[in-house]
Amino acid sequence: MNFYILTLFPDMVRELNTSIIGRAVQAGHLAIETVNIRDYTLDKHNRVDDYPYGGGAGMLMQAQPVYDAYQAVAERVGSRPRCIYLTPQGSTFTQAMAREYARETDLVFLCGHYEGIDERVLEEIVTDYVSIGDYVLTGGELPAMVMVDAISRMVPGVLTNQESGDFESFENGLLEYPQYSRPEEWMGRKVPPVLLSGHHKNIADWRQQQSEQRTKERRPDLWQRYLQRRQGETKEPGSFK
Ligand code: SAM
Repeated sequence: MNFYILTLFPDMVRELNTSIIGRAVQAGHLAIETVNIRDYTLDKHNRVDDYPYGGGAGMLMQAQPVYDAYQAVAERVGSRPRCIYLTPQGSTFTQAMAREYARETDLVFLCGHYEGIDERVLEEIVTDYVSIGDYVLTGGELPAMVMVDAISRMVPGVLTNQESGDFESFENGLLEYPQYSRPEEWMGRKVPPVLLSGHHKNIADWRQQQSEQRTKERRPDLWQRYLQRRQGETKEPGSFK
């Protein structure tokens, strides 16, 4: 899978090439290319932003360099890849979206900065408007990194143990159960005995019950959706506790 990140601050996103994502890049499962939008400006002073028409605070990224940066990628790829504009005005990013994007071969991320980007180029090239949450950041670079990380985990071969992608929080609509490693006792706290029992069915039941309890307490919104889905599956409203 190929990610192209259009940004005015390529150094910010280069840090992505470390740890699990870096290993996946080395292994050829992913390619991450940062494209410096400033390289495409036709302004003789290398400017990429200007004042917004109608007044108001801040500067706006201009249409021309953004468009040309996208076009350069499209020409190289030989198609017009899906282009995600990171914006607080977009749909909130979810695990389901990460799974869906992971099916693409090429994905372009457009990072805004300052007050954002001239609307006309967004209308021309953007296919998806995505937010990482209801708060405003200074730029789209961190959101792009968040998305690339989450999507990459869903690309086959990126995680060494494919299972670890399947039983994680959100994969079945619940948060993950608590986990423990050695030693068996730490600061007087013991690992729940069932996990030491070697009884796979009891361990699976305990984990399911812990996942449900945790989701109910920490994410009542997810819990309600989970219940609704279960009720839809059994078609017997109220049969699932
Ligand atoms: N004026 C814009 C508005 O009110 O919608 C906000 C601009 S913000 C200061 C600058 C850039 O940061 C945006 O163009 C976008 O790329 C990025 N950004 C800020 N918050 C974001 C969020 N929650 N999710 C995704 N991108 C975000």
